[in-house]
Amino acid sequence: MPDVAVVGSGPNGLAAAAVMARAGLSVEVFEAARSIGGGTRTSELMQPGHFHDVCSAVHPMALASPFFRAFELPRRIDLVTPELSFGSPLDDGRAALAYKSLDRTVMELGRDGPAYRRLMEPLVRNIDDVMDFTQNQLLRIPRNPLVALEYGLRTLEQGSGLWNARFREQLAPALLSGVAAHAISRLPSLAASGAGLMLGALGHATGWPIPRGGSATIAAALADDIRAHGGTIHTDTPIDRLEQLPATRATLLDVAPRGLVQMAHDSLPARYRRALEAFRYGNGSCKVDFILSGPVPWQARGLADAGTVHVGGTRAELARSENEVSAGRHPELPYVLVAQPSRFDSSRAPEGRHTLWTYCHVPAGSTEDMTGRITAQLERFAPGFRDLIVESHSMTAAQLSQYNRNYVGGDFSAGIMDVRGLVQKPVISPVPWRTPLLGVYLCSSSTPPGPGVTGMPGMHAAKYALKDMFRLPVPDLGIR
Ligand SMILES: Cc1cc2nc3c(=O)[nH]c(=O)nc-3n(C[C@H](O)[C@H](O)[C@H](O)COP(=O)(O)OP(=O)(O)OC[C@H]3O[C@@H](n4cnc5c(N)ncnc54)[C@H](O)[C@@H]3O)c2cc1C
Repeated sequence: MPDVAVVGSGPNGLAAAAVMARAGLSVEVFEAARSIGGGTRTSELMQPGHFHDVCSAVHPMALASPFFRAFELPRRIDLVTPELSFGSPLDDGRAALAYKSLDRTVMELGRDGPAYRRLMEPLVRNIDDVMDFTQNQLLRIPRNPLVALEYGLRTLEQGSGLWNARFREQLAPALLSGVAAHAISRLPSLAASGAGLMLGALGHATGWPIPRGGSATIAAALADDIRAHGGTIHTDTPIDRLEQLPATRATLLDVAPRGLVQMAHDSLPARYRRALEAFRYGNGSCKVDFILSGPVPWQARGLADAGTVHVGGTRAELARSENEVSAGRHPELPYVLVAQPSRFDSSRAPEGRHTLWTYCHVPAGSTEDMTGRITAQLERFAPGFRDLIVESHSMTAAQLSQYNRNYVGGDFSAGIMDVRGLVQKPVISPVPWRTPLLGVYLCSSSTPPGPGVTGMPGMHAAKYALKDMFRLPVPDLGIR
């Protein structure tokens, strides 16, 4: 019998498995899909030689999360970090651009440059403390309470009706809202501004890297490490009941709360089960990938060099789009997240071709294919885009939920991103990764610190499993 079973091989399941295997325990991972990776898979979705990231594509957290830092990810895979982290085009042909260099960003933001600097600089300068605060348990004293306070005050400002108070023009607000809208939440809102400020600060502190070869290289690096430390990974092995698993001392579940209820329905205490059943999922996304016969012909100079582009226009327009989704409607002019991987990694497409990664937010469970509206938004800011499309491939929110059972209703965050949702993950507890079942832990992004390819939910769950069940400390995770 192995010591540890892990269900699910998303980045968090693999992170948990790597920590447990490094501690000298025998580990088996069980993955429902044919390949490992969960939200970090790369695939030839349409034509041979064109590689698309099926889910995640851009990885600020892979550089900055305490887990991936300890794991020394940048020494294991090739992360290409564009000098221009992200940008937002406007209709007048200009674009707000967030360079890795805060100075250059401030300079190009014109009159609002100094206000942008005052907002971001304390967070950029203290990024390790910001990460410590946002990536660890909520119910603890932060390592640097002053930085936590600075971050909190800025989150309050940018998450409220005061969000435009320090700005006089359109560029800086569009830049900030483009990042905040990642949270799939109302705008302005505290959850969106908190996520946006952290991701925005990372854009200047570490950059927003793209893995050469695609996000699957992150999963492969984790899997290699697990195997190198004696672990085994089984794919094509869905676990529908906990009894299917070998009788291990610890079980770590990279599943959404709904998955745990299905797997352990009768053995869960009624109160905990009801809490999991009441867990709230967020809205969904519609993913659209493109093969292009050339690079995107952005009207705004500079955007060709951005790893990520937030398409949708001004702050007011982005807010309108996100608030429509929150109200259960499909926006006519959606906020579109765009990544240009082949611009920085020639292995993604044959010479002369490009791959483009996009998605937009939609109401939970949506079956609407947003390819037309996404194409129209791109054409608006990059005239001639339509003529470059060789082929496209879409996944509606409903299809996303079939692709990965954690993405309930197409919610790839596996839990709603609002203040209550951030605290109740999935229950309010100092150790939310523990379940009432002895030796059974949740380690998916439905637990703190939440979504993104961080490995942190997996790391936290593994830390408690090691302590509770084996009386072991977290091992060294670096290359050796
Ligand atoms: C379109 C899209 C774009 C995204 N973009 C980014 C991005 O650019 N950057 C970023 O950081 N994040 C991004 N994300 C989010 C990121 O992918 C997720 O937050 C992350 O993958 C969550 O990791 P996880 O390990 O918790 O779960 P997942 O990655 O969802 O993995 C869970 C795994 O568990 C398996 N599983 C579930 N139940 C069972 C079961 N019962 N038996 C066996 N196996 C099971 C699933 O098949 C899956 O493989 C994106 C997601 C999507 C969908």
